[in-house]
Amino acid sequence: MADIIQLLPDSVANQIAAGEVIQRPASAVKELMENAIDAKATSIKLIIKDAGKTLIQVIDNGIGMSETDARMSFERHATSKIRKADDLFAIKSFGFRGEALASIAAIAHVEMKTRRATDETGIKIIIEGSEIKEQEPCSTPIGTSFSVKNLFYNVPARRNFLKSDSVELRHIIEEFTRVAIPNSDIAFTFHHNNQELFHLEANQLRQRIAGIFGNNYNERLVPVEEETNIVNVKGFIGKPEHAKRTRGEQYFFINNRFIKSPYLHHAVQTAYRELLPEESFASYFILMDIDPKMIDINIHPTKTEIKFEDEKSVYMILRSAVKRSLGKFHLSPSLDFERENSFDLPVNHSRPIVAPEIKVDRNFNPFTQGGFKEKSVTEKRNTENWDKLYSGFTKNEPDLSSHEPERTQHTISPQWSDSEDEQKERECFQLHNRYVVSSIKSGLVVIDQQAAHERILFERFIKTSQNNKGYSQQLLFPETIEFTTDDFELIKELSEEINALGFDINEFGKNTFAISGVPVVIEQSGAKNILEKLIQGYKENLQELKLSKHENLARSMAKNVSIKPGKKLSQQEMNTLIDELFACEIPYTNPAGKPTLTMLQQDELERRFKK
Ligand code: ADP
Ligand code: MG
Repeated sequence: MADIIQLLPDSVANQIAAGEVIQRPASAVKELMENAIDAKATSIKLIIKDAGKTLIQVIDNGIGMSETDARMSFERHATSKIRKADDLFAIKSFGFRGEALASIAAIAHVEMKTRRATDETGIKIIIEGSEIKEQEPCSTPIGTSFSVKNLFYNVPARRNFLKSDSVELRHIIEEFTRVAIPNSDIAFTFHHNNQELFHLEANQLRQRIAGIFGNNYNERLVPVEEETNIVNVKGFIGKPEHAKRTRGEQYFFINNRFIKSPYLHHAVQTAYRELLPEESFASYFILMDIDPKMIDINIHPTKTEIKFEDEKSVYMILRSAVKRSLGKFHLSPSLDFERENSFDLPVNHSRPIVAPEIKVDRNFNPFTQGGFKEKSVTEKRNTENWDKLYSGFTKNEPDLSSHEPERTQHTISPQWSDSEDEQKERECFQLHNRYVVSSIKSGLVVIDQQAAHERILFERFIKTSQNNKGYSQQLLFPETIEFTTDDFELIKELSEEINALGFDINEFGKNTFAISGVPVVIEQSGAKNILEKLIQGYKENLQELKLSKHENLARSMAKNVSIKPGKKLSQQEMNTLIDELFACEIPYTNPAGKPTLTMLQQDELERRFKK
């Protein structure tokens, strides 16, 4: 019998490869746009007809190609971007497999025109089904233009499986967006059936996002920025109040490459958790730079997953960066911070910066300015927060020196007080035994006493349970308390965490616990009641939320023992409440995301008193 194995002809091999690389018009758009960026274009035009089924054209003003390179570019595994296997670990370009053009040319009618700045004439190549039809000099601008016509003309199965124009167009817009966001220094236009869909000038990231998603994004976004020696994070996140019920715009880029990462998504979502109602999603546009050595992008060409070393640290850094940004900017526009016309970080230029008086720090406490008595609150908290944010780093500790609080001088500074007579106690009063009202320079602030107290207690409980040393006071007479079997088992399971909050409970016979100590915040007489309510709240939380045991218990406790509406507060209690609230990591909402305070701005007041 004769041998039967043969090598496939190139055209067939290319067509098979094309099946992997080019799945739909949007994949060709992505490959061509990425090639243009790799060619250092500063302006890229995308022209589409019939959702890419008839025409996909990408015109760039990049470096162009020589005649030989132009011809070579359509060969499989032909690339200018890597030469040896080692280069795979230092990839800075989008492409490196040398497969895209060969694949596209195998399944479409392609016309390419290209010219380098140093060449007088350009070169035109027409290639159809991997077969060169024409190759000749031509006059063409510097850069490269690819026209891809009749995609999948020779792969009917593929062509028939394409979705409606509107669906395919949506895919193209998505690919376009993923390329356009991180490359904001490149100008893009996008026409579909002679209609201009996007016109994006080279610009800052923020304006680029607004250019793509609409101008109202300008005010919806707050910056995130963090530099560490593992990863540099920059970008923007949506303010919680603009979160959407459906998944919002959520984009991660690593070294300008769009990636999907449920893991990192979780980091962001966790940072938001207490600020968002359940089941809502904030938008984010986060760019991370990581040493290419630390990541593995040598995976399937169309996959957007990425593997990287030290994923855990990236997670922690990302989460803390988002958290901090939220804490810092959440309410900033409604406080007294000047809004800039430029979209840069909102640095307050409205008063001269005099070093010692305005010692801004990112965890500012607007109430402690002016020699207020609890001056140490903010300072103390800085380090505490720090410990908390990074408590996840045990080994493998990244260099966090750049995180020193002193560094963040760009922090917005509140205009709390104006003059020296602010040295005296702040003025506040209680309204309906329910709200604490105080004046601030820009107007007044109304604080919900229960929500605020819940926030304060919650953060305290979280901290103590993490350190495993909640302050406990011993009861004079231990109390015993009998539970249902279910609850008894649950408490047994949680006993370590419960004791970490400051309780001292121990098993005491069948279905019974003895309480010998309670957290200091609790009045001794209520021990039994509180423990019951704690478990009740814990179970309720279980039904709707995915919280850690610690967090769930801390929430439940905070809700239980917080001061309730109807409780009259003394002047000192109100002051302490305000101080402690603003010493919190996230002062603006209670643990369930309900606001703790609202403001009435002076200009709003003035507006209301206009005739
Ligand atoms: P890869 O991008 O993985 O190298 P491609 O098949 O996409 O593979 O492209 C092959 C080669 O063709 C590239 O390495 C590059 O040298 C050249 N090339 C492709 N597109 C352009 C372009 N728009 N401008 C200049 N050169 C290009
Ligand atoms: Mg490429």
